[in-house]
Amino acid sequence: MITTKPSESCPFQKTPVGQSYDVIVLGAGPAGVTCATLLAEAGKSVLVLERELMPRFHVGESLLPKTYPTLKRLGLLEKMKQSAFPKKYSVQFVTEMGKLTQPFYFDEYIPHESSQTWQVERAGFDLMLAENGVQKGAVVRTGAHVIDVLFDKDRAIGAKVKLKNGQAGEEEVREIACEVLVDATGQSAFLANRLKMRESDPLLQKGTVWSYFEGAIRDEGKDEGATIIMQTKGKKSWFWYIPLSDDTVSVGCTGSMKYMFPGDGSTPEQIFERELAKCPEMKRRIENSKQVTEFKVTKDFTYRAKQTAGPGWVLIGDAFGFIDPVYSSGILLAFASGEFAADAIIEGFEKNDLSAKQLGKWNDVFVTGLTYFKRLIYGFYAPDFSFGSFFKKYPECRNQMIDILMGDVFKPDLETLFEKMGDVVPPSDI
Ligand SMILES: Cc1cc2nc3c(=O)[nH]c(=O)nc-3n(C[C@H](O)[C@H](O)[C@H](O)COP(=O)(O)OP(=O)(O)OC[C@H]3O[C@@H](n4cnc5c(N)ncnc54)[C@H](O)[C@@H]3O)c2cc1C
Repeated sequence: MITTKPSESCPFQKTPVGQSYDVIVLGAGPAGVTCATLLAEAGKSVLVLERELMPRFHVGESLLPKTYPTLKRLGLLEKMKQSAFPKKYSVQFVTEMGKLTQPFYFDEYIPHESSQTWQVERAGFDLMLAENGVQKGAVVRTGAHVIDVLFDKDRAIGAKVKLKNGQAGEEEVREIACEVLVDATGQSAFLANRLKMRESDPLLQKGTVWSYFEGAIRDEGKDEGATIIMQTKGKKSWFWYIPLSDDTVSVGCTGSMKYMFPGDGSTPEQIFERELAKCPEMKRRIENSKQVTEFKVTKDFTYRAKQTAGPGWVLIGDAFGFIDPVYSSGILLAFASGEFAADAIIEGFEKNDLSAKQLGKWNDVFVTGLTYFKRLIYGFYAPDFSFGSFFKKYPECRNQMIDILMGDVFKPDLETLFEKMGDVVPPSDI
C-alpha cells in the first residue's frame, strides 16, 4: 500500500522539546536523520524538527548500491535484509526505438552483497530511519514547522518553530537554541533560499508526472526489482519503472518543463497518456494494471547552493542541491552529505571550531561527486550523444560508468571518463 496521506498516529508528534541542543536539524528526510543519528551516537544532543507527521509520502524510491555503507553505519542492514522492499540488482535502459539494452548487473562488476540494493516505499523507509535515530538518542519532533533560522551576525544560533501540539492542532511558536544548525529541508531549501545562495541549472529544468500501478507486468527472478529507464520516441521525455512491494510499481515520466507542461490546459493524466503513446514498452507493462493513486506532478529543477556551510550552519541533501532523478542519485547524496556533515560537526566540537571552513570541509569532494552524476545526466539528455556508441569506442570507460550508476562517486579516478566524453551538453531547457 502506498501511503500518500500523513499518518494520524505519528510516534513523534508529542515528543517534548527542550530549550537548547548541540545541533538542530531541520527536516526528517534521509539526509537530516542520517546526520542526526550519527551525531547522537557520538554523544551530541540533537533535535530534528519535521513539519509533517510521519509516515509521510515522498517520491524517490530507488536506492543505489553505494547506500550500503551508510545503511551499515546506521545499523540498518539486517532490517533492510528482512524487509519486504524488493531487491534491486540492476538498472536497464530501453532506447527510444524500444530496444532493451543489456542490464547493468552490479554484482557482475563487484561480486559482493553490497551490490544488491533495494526499491523502497519512502513513507515506511523514512519512518524506519527516524525510529532508528530516536533509538540512537536523537530527539525527533514532527508537526514542527520551522519558520525562521536565528542568527547572531552571520552565525546560526537557533531555530524558530511552530509546534503543533497533538491531534487538536493548537500551535505554539518557540525559539530553540543550538551550536550548529543543519538544514535538511529537502527541496524547500529553507536556508539557501533565505540566504539567496541557490543557483539553478538552465540545462536541467525538468518536470515529472507520476503515479502508482498495481498488477503491472514485472520481470522475474533477479530482474524483478530492476529499475528500468525508458526513452520515449523523439527522446523528449523518459519513463521510470520502479517495482515496489505489494505488486505496486512507481511509474513516472520526466521531460523539460516547457515540453511536458506547455500551458495548453492538458491535465496530468493527458500529459502522461500523451507520453505513454510514445513508449510502447511501458504501455505493454502497465496497460492491464490498476492505477492506485492520482497523478502527481513535480518540478525537478536541478540546483545547488553556492556553499555547503557557514558559521554554525550546514546544508545537506536536497537542501544543498538536487539533480535530475534519472540516475536515482538523491538518497545516496542525502546519505553521503548527512555523513560528511556529521563527521565534520563532531570534529568541529572536538576542536572547538564551528567555522564555515570546518563544517564545510567535505564541500569539494562532495561537489565533485555530484558533478559526476550531473555530467552523466548531460550525456543522457544530449540529443546527439549515445552511450552505446561511446562505449563501443571506449570500452575501458564502461566500468567508470558502472561506478557512477552504483553511486561510487566520491573518488578521483572517474575524471578520465569525462575527458573522453568531452563537452557533452544538452540544449537549454529555458
Ligand atoms: C521526480 C523525482 C524522482 C526521484 N526519484 C528518486 C529515486 O528513484 N531515487 C533516489 O535516490 N532519489 C530520487 N529522488 C530524489 C529524492 O527524493 C531526494 O533526493 C531525497 O528525498 C532527498 O532527501 P532529503 O533528506 O534531502 O530531503 P527530503 O527527503 O525531501 O526531506 C526533507 C524533509 O524536510 C521537511 N521540511 C521541509 N521544510 C521544512 C520546514 N520549514 N520545517 C520543518 N521541516 C521541513 C519535509 O517535510 C521533509 O520531510 C527523486 C526526486 C524527484 C523529484
